[in-house]
Amino acid sequence: MPISGLQHLTFCERQWALIHIEGEWSENVLTVEGKQLHEFVHGQGSESRSGVRVVRGLRIRSLEFGLYGVADMVEFRPSDDGAKITGHRGLWRPYPVEYKHGRKRNDNANEMQLCAQAVCLEEMFGVKVSVGAIYYGQPKRRGEVEISDSLRAELVSACSRMRTLYDQEDDPRPTVGNHCRNCSLGDKCMPDVISGDRSKSYVDGIMRDLSDQNPVEGLRR
Ligand code: SF4
Repeated sequence: MPISGLQHLTFCERQWALIHIEGEWSENVLTVEGKQLHEFVHGQGSESRSGVRVVRGLRIRSLEFGLYGVADMVEFRPSDDGAKITGHRGLWRPYPVEYKHGRKRNDNANEMQLCAQAVCLEEMFGVKVSVGAIYYGQPKRRGEVEISDSLRAELVSACSRMRTLYDQEDDPRPTVGNHCRNCSLGDKCMPDVISGDRSKSYVDGIMRDLSDQNPVEGLRR
């Protein structure tokens, strides 16, 4: 499961299903701005800065969680109980930094995404990653985030929810609300049409009436 899906799932389960099950995608100004920022960060390459090895656009994965993705930036900091990294002497501890073009959100989606990167790095390098950071374009500042037990528990629950949705026969129903205004998939989702569609309950009602009148006939129909 792509780590980016955690954002979509937190925003709207139907949006997550449209993107990650149905293969739908549309851009709006918010998605384009986010994409441009990530492409800019990844394009900066790798470097060493004040004793810290900085790697951008690092491919990561966790077999345990079934997650994969690309970390915007990982700082490898010298640490006595860190891991070896190819081509560099000493031991290093990964410190993931996620870039967001907007402001801090009210929900925990960004923090959970950072936590997903941390568990991937832990599995790949065999060291504990207990802290990382999120950089916000507004106000152009990074804030440190503890990869706490509660954040890890939220991640476990989100991964389990994604698996449940994958196994479900139907996509989640639209949850019409203010978030729909910022959703790039409005024309694919058609929230007003779908949420107002009562044809299924109408047909179910007829079938129920038929079963009540004649259980055997009702079942045959
Ligand atoms: S339009 Fe609204 S209900 Fe539909 S996917 Fe987007 S946020 Fe979800």
